[in-house]
Amino acid sequence: MAEAAKKVRATKSFTARMILALVAVRGALSRGESWRLARTGLIGMIAGFVLLVVSGQLKTMTHEIVAIWITDGCLLGHMMLLRRRYKPVFLTGASIGLLLANMMGDETFYVAFSFTLAGMVETCAAALMLPGVKSARELIQPKVFIRFVVGACMIAPTLSGIVAVILLQGIFTSHPFSSFSNWVISDALGFLIFTPVTLVILSGEWRSLREPGNRIESILLLALIGTVSVTVFSQTSYGDLYWMLPPLALLAFRAELSTVLLGTLLFISIAVPLTIHGTGPLWLSPFASMQERVLALQLFTVAALSIVLPITVLQTQRNALMNALSEGQRRFKNLAERSEEVVMELSADGRCQYISPRAKVVLGYEPAALSGTSILDLAHQSDRPELHRALVHTQTTAEEGSVQYRFRRADGTYLWVRSFIAAMPAGLPGDRSALAFTVRDVDIYVVAEQRRLAEEQRLRDMVFIDSLTGLPNRRYLDTRVNELLSSHADEAPGRPVAVLFADVDYFKNFNDEYGHQAGDECLRSVGQCIATTVSDRDSVARYGGEEFVVLLEDCEHEEALRTAELIRVAVESRALKHRGSPLGVVTLSIGVAQRDICRPVDAARLFELADSAVYMAKRLGRNRVGEVQDTVSPGAANVSTEWEPTAMPQGATSP
Ligand code: GH3
Ligand code: MG
Ligand code: MG
Repeated sequence: MAEAAKKVRATKSFTARMILALVAVRGALSRGESWRLARTGLIGMIAGFVLLVVSGQLKTMTHEIVAIWITDGCLLGHMMLLRRRYKPVFLTGASIGLLLANMMGDETFYVAFSFTLAGMVETCAAALMLPGVKSARELIQPKVFIRFVVGACMIAPTLSGIVAVILLQGIFTSHPFSSFSNWVISDALGFLIFTPVTLVILSGEWRSLREPGNRIESILLLALIGTVSVTVFSQTSYGDLYWMLPPLALLAFRAELSTVLLGTLLFISIAVPLTIHGTGPLWLSPFASMQERVLALQLFTVAALSIVLPITVLQTQRNALMNALSEGQRRFKNLAERSEEVVMELSADGRCQYISPRAKVVLGYEPAALSGTSILDLAHQSDRPELHRALVHTQTTAEEGSVQYRFRRADGTYLWVRSFIAAMPAGLPGDRSALAFTVRDVDIYVVAEQRRLAEEQRLRDMVFIDSLTGLPNRRYLDTRVNELLSSHADEAPGRPVAVLFADVDYFKNFNDEYGHQAGDECLRSVGQCIATTVSDRDSVARYGGEEFVVLLEDCEHEEALRTAELIRVAVESRALKHRGSPLGVVTLSIGVAQRDICRPVDAARLFELADSAVYMAKRLGRNRVGEVQDTVSPGAANVSTEWEPTAMPQGATSP
């Protein structure tokens, strides 16, 4: 709208300005803002007019005695529900309505204006002293209620009473003080009852009356109030006004706010007409005038309300608290019972204090059976230290933690579970719970993970293990040799590494003689023989076919030759029959390659040397150890290999 106004001002042409202004007004109207403001003012005017007419009628019905002034209480209740910018419009509308209604009687404009002004002073003062509330339930919050009682029910009526008495000195027929006190008390009662009543009606809180749980009790309580009020106020022979207090107190204790207000209204609407009609306990006391009698009734009502409303306030608070508590309990119960996890509370020494019913499904225990049991006793023996550490950690640091362990089920089997542990705030005195503890069944995941790891390991093994002999294979050996040589690469001088290359003699003949199966069996036997002959730190591998390799770490040259000879002798001594060999038994030819101590050499070169050494041993007659040495001519870049036959074993033949 402000933007549209700026545009209109900025335009020079009159016609264009008119069109823009019309468009802006149309926009504002279509947005509904002006219409809403106008409607609020109109409602204020109608409300002010109707309420004053009704109050006037009540006044006439009660012989010009005002027991309770409903107008300002209702206007205040209505205004409280409006947004801030609508309030002045509503008040203006209401003032016009009040003025019109006041002028309808015989009063002069001055009198009508004075009544209207006093009423407006009262409503404005009450509104200014009240915090913004949008329902009767909010109004009876203790702090708000005290401001309401002090501001709206005491200060505002007193202010308007003073204004009225000053402006209307000659108009009131009774003594100014009597008029003043009647004005203040009837207006205070009006606020005390009709402001919350208006809020209950306009905010929709009255619907709680229709709730099936409340309905019967509310009707019975209202019937009780009605019956006692009629009984007390319809007779003159006997009676004490205070008989009204027990049913009103019962109403306050048992009923909702809307029923309490309805009950109080019911009481007043029975008590006032009957008292004015000439019956009721107030006729048993000598009052100078009807005005004073009604004043006594008003004071009784104020006193009764000062008992009833605080009880209602406290009851409402208590009910809200109980509802919140039972809602919290219901929620916890739902979560604890429907959760996938078992929920527990543990004492500081790890004993179960509370166990959710889920324990039956997950662990097979009735919750009561676990009560007082140490959680550590329920864990697998080997997992206890870890669980204990986790419990102590959370207790000492107050940090949350989780731990995976095996939980002993009721049937004695173990289940993999994951527990979440958190420190709990201190509870009521005597409550020993110190830790919140949950147990989640993770068995299938852990078992699946274990299977996966085992399978992974098996596949890894398959990659590096020879399936026929069960010894490491060539891939393993290549990896190991490279690892070894590169780990020694930075060392100067390099550490000695030797490779023994063993080849079964005349093995083709063995297969031909005994068959492939027997050949396989023979290879297994030879592999096992080699593996048991060397020390644990040496690596033995089946390199391929009927060839085996032994990797000797930190092994000097002499030591390597000795080991090779030991292997050769061990296999020969096994005396595995071999008709296809001139030697009559299974034998090995072994080549030894030694890494030059002063000069690094790569793995491929080392195997090449070992292979050459085997070839040499074969040429020299088999069943023997052959050796080649890698040497460097001073200043030369090439490596030359010199053949060095070892001692000939017995029975060896030349190729
Ligand atoms: P040499 O003394 O010169 O080594 O003679 P050799 O007969 O052993 O000759 P060579 O090393 O060439 O023959 C290897 C034979 O080993 C050929 C093949 O039939 C046999 N062989 C290789 N792998 C296997 C195996 O896994 N199982 C069996 N049974 N025989 C194999
Ligand atoms: Mg071979
Ligand atoms: Mg061979």
